[in-house]
Amino acid sequence: MGERRQQAEAGRTADRGEPADEGEFDIIVCGAGPAGSTAAGMLAADEDLRVLLLEAGPDDADERVSDPDRWMENLGTERDWGYVTEPGAGIGGRRLVYSMGRGLGGGSSINAGTWSRGHRRNWEDTAASCADPRWDYRSTLGVYRELETWHGEPDPGRRGTAGPMHVRPAQPLHPFFSAMLEGAESAGLDRYDSPNGELAERGSGCAVRDEFAVGGTRRSPYRALVVPRRRQRNLTVLTRTLVTRVVFECNRAVGVEAVTGGRRVRFRAAREVVLSLGAVQTPKVLMQSGIGPARHLESLGIGVLADLPGVGANLGDHLLFGCVGEAGARELPPPARTQAVCFWGADGHADLPRFFMYSVGTAFMTPEAEARYGKPESAFTLLLGMSLRSRGSVRLADADPAGAPVIETGYFDEPDDLRDAVEAYRFAETIAHTEAMRPYRGSRMLLGNATDAEVAAYIRTAAFTYWHPCGTARIGADGDAVVDSELRVRGVENLRVADASVLPRVPSGNTMAPCVVVGHRAATFLRG
Ligand SMILES: Cc1cc2nc3c(=O)[nH]c(=O)nc-3n(C[C@H](O)[C@H](O)[C@H](O)COP(=O)(O)OP(=O)(O)OC[C@H]3O[C@@H](n4cnc5c(N)ncnc54)[C@H](O)[C@@H]3O)c2cc1C
Repeated sequence: MGERRQQAEAGRTADRGEPADEGEFDIIVCGAGPAGSTAAGMLAADEDLRVLLLEAGPDDADERVSDPDRWMENLGTERDWGYVTEPGAGIGGRRLVYSMGRGLGGGSSINAGTWSRGHRRNWEDTAASCADPRWDYRSTLGVYRELETWHGEPDPGRRGTAGPMHVRPAQPLHPFFSAMLEGAESAGLDRYDSPNGELAERGSGCAVRDEFAVGGTRRSPYRALVVPRRRQRNLTVLTRTLVTRVVFECNRAVGVEAVTGGRRVRFRAAREVVLSLGAVQTPKVLMQSGIGPARHLESLGIGVLADLPGVGANLGDHLLFGCVGEAGARELPPPARTQAVCFWGADGHADLPRFFMYSVGTAFMTPEAEARYGKPESAFTLLLGMSLRSRGSVRLADADPAGAPVIETGYFDEPDDLRDAVEAYRFAETIAHTEAMRPYRGSRMLLGNATDAEVAAYIRTAAFTYWHPCGTARIGADGDAVVDSELRVRGVENLRVADASVLPRVPSGNTMAPCVVVGHRAATFLRG
């Protein structure tokens, strides 16, 4: 879908002359996802700063966006880039549709609405990797307290009360999710008030999910931080504007080139350019601008401005696969609703969970798994998420900015990942078989009494993305890092990256809230 649209857009760009000058701003933020919206909204608070926010996709005025229960209806529409990955050797040669948000709000306008802040260890590791304590857990809690208005049990040490992002425990809780939590407790997980309080400092546990919504309506970071400032004269927001490259004078970023309405245009930046295009488009636009692995760029005839091998490497993600069971007598929740979460397993550190699990009242299966195992008409799925040792990559297919990128997920390139996935599946099965889940469970689980080898074969067929790509322009103090601890791109000036690309590893749980922190940091560094 996205590929086709990008190509169509390129086709309409007949004009090959000098791009039209569309004026000067102080700071240009490219991409209105959670990180870009947070950065732009916070920067625009300073009315002396001329801020331009550029977004390739449409606005967010659509009920499929505002109603979080309809999030799945956005997939495959113009609000989804709809990338297609390369065939994966570890997943039976399958290509995956790799959805990412496109339009105001980015992923936060089409995602499931979960607010998951990342584990204490994730932030400690990030701080260690860039040797900067401003990224550690204690500092990050300060950022979250500033960003959040928390509507659950008061937790003043961790939760905010006056921030722009409204966060609450999912409610009213459907009894299916209470049963899942009860089942998880009887399988050995402790229950917590919230996934984002004490549980985010523990190795395992379960809780009602936190969500960012007000009165049942999605309130994305774009809605929370940019919309209240849209009337300000110092903030300009342009949609349907595809950024194609950063413009440099020597090695100093001085603006961006873009395509809008079939025209090539240029915007000048007096101070800085911030790329917040997400973990696929940020490395793509960096490479189109001459920043990336020199050999790859040279092979495509792109002049090298900065040889940074880390651009497009280190693609991390969570793997998703389902433990599916036929439905029992008790009514299941609407298919897209998910209200409880479990964490367990060890990801490098004993206290950093490797697996998480939501659940839905439908059979959530890939087309290939449906064809091979049959799709039960009425079913529930325990949706497992797993952080992988293996990494993927994003590369350019050619020098044409309108072309689709080459995405290798690398799933199961590390064979131990598959063994661990089977173990995680077994734990989900245990929860599915608990007494608490009995009213929701029919006579048959999809895999029945499968052996480990059969479960492994199923996982290869069922494996999908949890839509959490990150790490393709990672932060760090080492030679392969792309940005320093203030998010400045190495080897050039006046260019920062602020989005999921900078997260060195995929955080425990979902990825949107950590991107909001990255946007907050970018604005703070820029204003400082
Ligand atoms: C279907 C789905 C469900 C998800 N569910 C959840 C969830 O419930 N909770 C959670 O925490 N996370 C969830 N995620 C993940 C989360 O949404 C992402 O981690 C997050 O949105 C990433 O934020 P970002 O700022 O890095 O970039 P993005 O959200 O990817 O935003 C980047 C923005 O830049 C724009 N852009 C890209 N290229 C260009 C260009 N060349 N020119 C101009 N603009 C451009 C894009 O259109 C987009 O608006 C989900 C993701 C998906 C796709």
